[in-house]
Amino acid sequence: MQPSKEQVTGKEALQLLMNGNQRFVTGKFEHPNHCEESRRGLVSAQNPIAVVLTCADSRVPPVNLFDQGLGDLFIVRVAGNIINDHILGSIEYAVSHLNTPLVMVMGHSSCGAVGAVAQGVKLHGHIASLTPSIDAALKKAKGMDGLWTENASKELAKTTAKKIEESEPILVDLVKAGRVLVVATYYDLETGIVSMLSEEVL
Ligand SMILES: [Zn+2]
Repeated sequence: MQPSKEQVTGKEALQLLMNGNQRFVTGKFEHPNHCEESRRGLVSAQNPIAVVLTCADSRVPPVNLFDQGLGDLFIVRVAGNIINDHILGSIEYAVSHLNTPLVMVMGHSSCGAVGAVAQGVKLHGHIASLTPSIDAALKKAKGMDGLWTENASKELAKTTAKKIEESEPILVDLVKAGRVLVVATYYDLETGIVSMLSEEVL
């Protein structure tokens, strides 16, 4: 049973998600808020505990890998978990109208979007609109220890989280007032573990 959502702070929401990921990794699912009663209780209102901005990749479903249920997560998904005005507007809506206390940007391993840009694949149509942010992360990750594309995915998540934190006019004020916590995380497909990229939060 999760605590009343009205009382959840950003840190508490983060802890709830990490606890849920632990259940996902160990296979000890609780599958909260999946029942008919939960569904009916959400008809007139929602109080999600977190916004999760992550990749559209089919292997990265936040409700499953945080073992959450209906109404728990306000999820924004786009290839490469980048931001634009539509995505920022969605996040602003959640934090200012639904009072969601946590915004998590989650990168992941084996990201096809990052891999394609890294390999210099010629991207046609609207796919090309995704590349500038990914390209910048790849440049930043050059020369770091470890796998280049994985480091770039982590950099991309951290950079996106920072941009959200500093986004004017709504988010920057809520973050400064301590009403919204923005964190970056990284999901490892191999282990199922979501790890923190932001320091000293929990
Ligand atoms: Zn991806």
